[in-house]
Amino acid sequence: MALRKILTQGDPALAKTCRPVEKFDRKLHWLLDDMKETLANAGGVGLAAPQIGILRRVVVVEDAEENMIELVNPVIVDQSGEQEGWEGCLSVPGKYGWVERPNVVTVRAQDREGKFFEVTGEELTARCFCHELEHLDGHLFVEHADELYTPEEIDAMEAEEESKE
Ligand code: ZN
Repeated sequence: MALRKILTQGDPALAKTCRPVEKFDRKLHWLLDDMKETLANAGGVGLAAPQIGILRRVVVVEDAEENMIELVNPVIVDQSGEQEGWEGCLSVPGKYGWVERPNVVTVRAQDREGKFFEVTGEELTARCFCHELEHLDGHLFVEHADELYTPEEIDAMEAEEESKE
């Protein structure tokens, strides 16, 4: 396994539509293993293949129980409710936006052997499914946020809100 470099906003790979995975071979397994290692090393909760320059429909998400879910050719098949919260991205380091997402999301995908399965996530995991799948079509969360803030700016805003209460 190897750590891969995470591309940042402005890199053309992040604006491309990714192609489906057709071969469930050792090369895919290496990619998934590298993505999991890279995600764990970066301390994030989700990583999409285009973020490391691979234009294939592959995503890794860490769920609330800290399991890494491998999603190959994922599609959202059901969603319900809504949530609002701060969202960030390993490809947009140090910046966060307030983004509305569905609260429960079900994804249908293939595993590393090509077998289809469905997985449902809530709250942060649901947010992560939406965020990572958008990467596969060349979109970033910043498109959903009116403005981006640094953690310091967010702390200052929240402190100000609290002082008003
Ligand atoms: Zn992202």
